[in-house]
Amino acid sequence: MQLAQNRYTIQGVDVLEIAEEFGLPLYVYDADKIIEKIGVLRSSFSGAPDRGVNLKIKYAAKALTNLSILKLMRMQGIDIEVVSVNEARLALLAGFEPAQIMFTPSGNAFAEIQEAIGMGLKLNVDSIPLLQQIGEVYGGSVAVGLRINPHITEGGNVKIQTGHVDSKFGISVLQRADIQDVVKQYGMTVIGLHVHTGSDFKNADAFLKGANVLFELASDFPDLQFLDFGSGFKVAYKEGDHFTDVADLGAKVSAAFQAFCAGYGRELELCFEPGKFLVSESGHLLVNVNVVKQNPNRTFVQVDSGLNHLIRPMMYDAWHDIVNVSNPAGDHQRYNVVGYICETDTFATDRDLPEVRPNDVLAFKNAGAYGFSMASNYNSRPRPAEVLVYDGKPYLIRQRETFDDILRGQVNLSVLNEAATVAGE
Ligand SMILES: *Cc1c(COP(=O)(O)O)cnc(C)c1O
Repeated sequence: MQLAQNRYTIQGVDVLEIAEEFGLPLYVYDADKIIEKIGVLRSSFSGAPDRGVNLKIKYAAKALTNLSILKLMRMQGIDIEVVSVNEARLALLAGFEPAQIMFTPSGNAFAEIQEAIGMGLKLNVDSIPLLQQIGEVYGGSVAVGLRINPHITEGGNVKIQTGHVDSKFGISVLQRADIQDVVKQYGMTVIGLHVHTGSDFKNADAFLKGANVLFELASDFPDLQFLDFGSGFKVAYKEGDHFTDVADLGAKVSAAFQAFCAGYGRELELCFEPGKFLVSESGHLLVNVNVVKQNPNRTFVQVDSGLNHLIRPMMYDAWHDIVNVSNPAGDHQRYNVVGYICETDTFATDRDLPEVRPNDVLAFKNAGAYGFSMASNYNSRPRPAEVLVYDGKPYLIRQRETFDDILRGQVNLSVLNEAATVAGE
């Protein structure tokens, strides 16, 4: 019997029981954690009476696109930001109105942009050629937002920096005159300015730099309804990690925004598009230990998952805390925790864990954002099931894939049915 205080729980539900009921590997999300994060963000922007701004939080759906998560966001009064029309379709299925959906393409085909316009989504245009094309086809009839590249280098990892001078994202702030030319030529209405300078900003100053670029540019556009500061909220992945102090951010950005609105002459919406901040901590990836293998200088823990289910450690060198859920009181040792994929898919190197035994259940923390949504069928492996713990109860929110899912869409060509022909026979 395990001691009660050692049980690893989500909203009081024993994680081992969830693993038992739904099988492994498994993504589990804690709805309370998401609600808590929304509350933290909201209160940061409305703490003091002089700070009250018209804040719109738009959840960046790509972080975790399960319908039930989108529905939870909607229930909490959150709007949504999408990067593809399919994400917008999911948002509509989750009950969002088109006007609550902000579409931020980056180099998408014009056909997809037209679909988005047809659906009535809000649109952030990310290039001058696209702006031109919209002008040609729709004249001034489609109100647009503009995604601006402010040329600021911020963010932890070069792969997730999106605002620097060589980044593909957005319209360069240096092309201000060209934007004006196109807008004037077609009589277009620009209703918003957007900047998303990457992930993992450390402090409010980084956001303020981006904000100042938009404040400055705003004087070109008399019809603005919103300024959107994107995201980049850094979350702590391990103890001692630096994370964005949202209270400080809220205070500083709100003050700067109010000063801006006073100068602009109107109260605009202040938008943020957090993905990771809202869902990262809510998620765990639960895995089973297949093999514990002692090599001369390393002990490998091989689990029934890999870069096909959680690619962040391999792609971004991301750290995910690991909990040995089924042996929390074991003697500590150091392990390399690795996946079962035929690639080097290392989750953790030289990680200190309570003794890991075959069939132990491990939990990777902070797996809510860019976990399932970046999962694949590599090695012809099904993707895991997903469970949402809501109001103290675990609910299945996505079935585990099966071999049928792997096979779906493949065409079994009959012209290739001949028996093997060997050269020379
Ligand atoms: C990915 C993305 C976000 C969310 O980024 P996080 O780091 O997950 O908060 C917000 N806005 C846009 C346009 C994005 O592409």
